[in-house]
Amino acid sequence: ESYLNPKYTFDKFIEGDCNRLGRAAGLAVANKPGLTSFNPLMIYGGVGLGKTHLIQAIGNQIKSDYPGKFVLYVSTEKFTNQFVNAIRNNSIESFTNFYLQVDVLIIDDVQFLSGKEKTQETFFNIFNHLHQSGKQIILSSDRAPRELNGMEDRLLSRFKWGLTADLQQPDYETRIAIIQKKLQDDGIQIDFEVLEYLAHTIQTNVRELEGVIISLMAQASLTRKDIDLELAKSTLKSIVNEQEKELSVENILDVVTTYFEVDMDTLRGKCRKKENVFPRQVAMYLLKELTNLPLKSIGYHFGGRDHSTVIHAVQAVSEAMETDKSIEKTVRKLYGRFH
Ligand code: ADP
Ligand code: MG
Repeated sequence: ESYLNPKYTFDKFIEGDCNRLGRAAGLAVANKPGLTSFNPLMIYGGVGLGKTHLIQAIGNQIKSDYPGKFVLYVSTEKFTNQFVNAIRNNSIESFTNFYLQVDVLIIDDVQFLSGKEKTQETFFNIFNHLHQSGKQIILSSDRAPRELNGMEDRLLSRFKWGLTADLQQPDYETRIAIIQKKLQDDGIQIDFEVLEYLAHTIQTNVRELEGVIISLMAQASLTRKDIDLELAKSTLKSIVNEQEKELSVENILDVVTTYFEVDMDTLRGKCRKKENVFPRQVAMYLLKELTNLPLKSIGYHFGGRDHSTVIHAVQAVSEAMETDKSIEKTVRKLYGRFH
């Protein structure tokens, strides 16, 4: 089990000026894992710019080209949780030994190691062992190594041993290509003027871009219309333009993750623990109340959940607000950040 998502391939990763170096380095590593000087390969960049996609694409390609190699993808959060459990169960040795068997170790979002000294120490040892035996290490982070605070210097210096490449906001041409590809994969044709309009209007990250495309497709099937300029304009107007600038999906999720102290992947993820489920429901509630996003699009931002999950979340939060004054206060406060 490598925990890779097979949908993240190089084939689906559109190349542009914004990601050329990272993509090329990724391909080089995928062709000769452990044998290039790109070890570790560290991909960094802001949210929604394709870090997870790219590092998993490397893993998927290695897995298919080198079936004998043990490729492992793990989020930093999961790695940390496993480590904490290992401490609790007195099984640190088997935890470490497991990781020492890996041929290609892919660790996502290493910024979450910050401030976790013991986890860093163990990761440092694993890193050294793997690196010395010529195993490939691939990391992602939401910022450059020099901007990672709360990280041990010796670990930071390891991060810089190989190649560090950043992903940037996609430029206009890349946005065109990404929209085209996404629609094409769904068998949808649109006029070039619509494509141009979308690429001009949505200038944030690829995840937001995908979100808008999904809204648009939902809107088109709901109204049984083709995606034309008029529909594109009205859809976009209802989800972005009429809002204050600060009001975006990303900002709403940011407010929730900060307030509840959960990380973004957990919020978007599938973990059923109570302390994660409630923030997730609040986030869905706020997206429903603050934006005009269709339920399907809201679900999309949480790992592609369907609209009934969103409805359920909104109901659960409304009920909790009615029965618990402190919850009501909390939700109103978060809501108030945007009004
Ligand atoms: P990050 O990990 O940097 O937050 P993700 O890898 O999760 O971002 O990417 C967000 C979404 O955008 C994913 O659905 C991903 O497939 C898509 N995406 C990002 N970059 C590209 C690209 N260059 N080509 C096609 N899709 C992309
Ligand atoms: Mg990611």
